[in-house]
Amino acid sequence: METQIKHVVIAGGGTAGWLAAAALAKLFGKQIQVTLIESAEIGRIGVGEATIPPLRNFHRLLGIAEPAFMTATQATFKLGIEFSNWAQVGDNYLHSFGITGKDCWACDFHHFWLKGRERGIASDFADYSIESQAARQMKLLPGDAGRLNYAYHLDAGLYAEFLRSHALKFGAKHIDAKITDVIVAESTGFIEALQLDNGERISGDLFLDCTGFSALLIGKTLNVKYEPYGHFLPCDSAVAVQSQRAGEPRPYTQSIAHEFGWQWRIPLQQRVGNGMVYCSRYVSDDEAKTRLLANLDGDAITDTRMFRYHTGRRQSAWHKNCVAIGLSSGFLEPVESTSIHLAMSGVLRLLKLFPRTGIDPVRVAEYNRQTVEEIEKIRDFIILHYHATERRDSPFWRYCNDMAIPDSLASRLTLFKKTGLFPIHNKELFQIDSWLQVMLGQGIVPLDHHPIVELMDDDELGRFLNGYQQMVRHAVAAMPSHSQALTAYRKRREPESRLVSHTLASHTFESQA
Ligand SMILES: Cc1cc2nc3c(=O)[nH]c(=O)nc-3n(C[C@H](O)[C@H](O)[C@H](O)COP(=O)(O)OP(=O)(O)OC[C@H]3O[C@@H](n4cnc5c(N)ncnc54)[C@H](O)[C@@H]3O)c2cc1C
Repeated sequence: METQIKHVVIAGGGTAGWLAAAALAKLFGKQIQVTLIESAEIGRIGVGEATIPPLRNFHRLLGIAEPAFMTATQATFKLGIEFSNWAQVGDNYLHSFGITGKDCWACDFHHFWLKGRERGIASDFADYSIESQAARQMKLLPGDAGRLNYAYHLDAGLYAEFLRSHALKFGAKHIDAKITDVIVAESTGFIEALQLDNGERISGDLFLDCTGFSALLIGKTLNVKYEPYGHFLPCDSAVAVQSQRAGEPRPYTQSIAHEFGWQWRIPLQQRVGNGMVYCSRYVSDDEAKTRLLANLDGDAITDTRMFRYHTGRRQSAWHKNCVAIGLSSGFLEPVESTSIHLAMSGVLRLLKLFPRTGIDPVRVAEYNRQTVEEIEKIRDFIILHYHATERRDSPFWRYCNDMAIPDSLASRLTLFKKTGLFPIHNKELFQIDSWLQVMLGQGIVPLDHHPIVELMDDDELGRFLNGYQQMVRHAVAAMPSHSQALTAYRKRREPESRLVSHTLASHTFESQA
């Protein structure tokens, strides 16, 4: 297709659709028209309330001010995820977003920690991370001052509305109607227009499929196949409910494993989002729901909602003149809150590879290559959570523990177990600090460490480890509580432009923005 792209039509107005509309309208609004079609009657999925740090950079790109965003979406801060019962029943560790310890030119910090542990002079790995300690003590200093790596918990419905207001402000056009037909040119296989139930026919040059799990354009119309990951990521169902807030909101998500899956608790300013993720082969919907309702912190304030899904990805996220963004392009798992991130990075990738003259296959192939690379790395990290368990108490956990894992993950785990080495590839979302916290948290401890560590005698190593731990303690002691930080933000409604000058310390996550 040689035609210059002048009109981008976005089908669907969930988080993915409005993220795409806001970014395209803000950055390309002078060159292209952006139209978003959504059906209020069909509605949005309404879950997806935990995020990861790169979202802050994306907000910065859009000129979104943090205090305004937090007020509009009832958001709280998120320093990581607490995993309970994942390695064994009764255990608990935190995957925080921060850096643990201090590395040297030859090796990462955990090599020093491993030797210290062997000699009985190192404490818990999490004691060397500011974010972990701040999370445990319910503390947080937002913005530049704290230099913390954090993300947010947000209300999914309010967030889509918030993004919508930005997209409309940047010039995007909005149509509330149901798409009844997708018109495809027989000669090229390109989408020509969307037929709406109000009689309108919306033609465009590039179409974004943001229709969620229904994948109306990329799946149902263009028949792009789905590559399933169910054998690695066996959970296929969820039940969700909102509950009353009980106590001060925690600055981290809770992930509590059960015999057949796991439960999330996402604390917002006024309520808590809860859900049970499970594998329908091992538990009935009723039992999963009963277990969820029995494990709420506060009283339920909504009815429960059920979800069925297939973990996997679209074989090509970009096909012809259609790009799938959001759930239409695939779904891994809610466990590391990566879905909104993948929608965001899909949008950014599209912006970076946006065609000047027309859609050519080389550009499309590059978009798809990058997409697969990104998803497979994240997929491996998520599989690690299920596979690296010592739980043998239920058929579900025995399956996860025994299942074959991708070679890409298996070879990394072998290297780490034997040597303590863990190479991170270019542009990988989850960096060494994330992998380490999950591997160590779930009982994978290497047999060896780097020889350079032997240059330090016990006294020197002890001083190094204690010194770092003291620094962490002092930094956290000086922080306000999470609740105080939220209250201060509620009082301070910054003008939008202020945020652009913030430099964000998002160093443990490969920034996509
Ligand atoms: C159980 C569960 C938990 C999750 N938890 C997290 C999490 O913690 N963190 C995270 O990042 N992600 C999470 N996700 C994923 C997250 O919900 C999605 O990535 C995010 O909400 C984006 O969804 P979407 O916009 O692709 O789809 P949707 O919200 O489903 O939006 C689809 C849009 O398409 C429109 N539409 C569909 N068909 C038509 C039609 N025929 N005509 C017109 N409009 C149409 C709908 O009206 C809607 O506007 C979770 C998902 C599930 C299932």
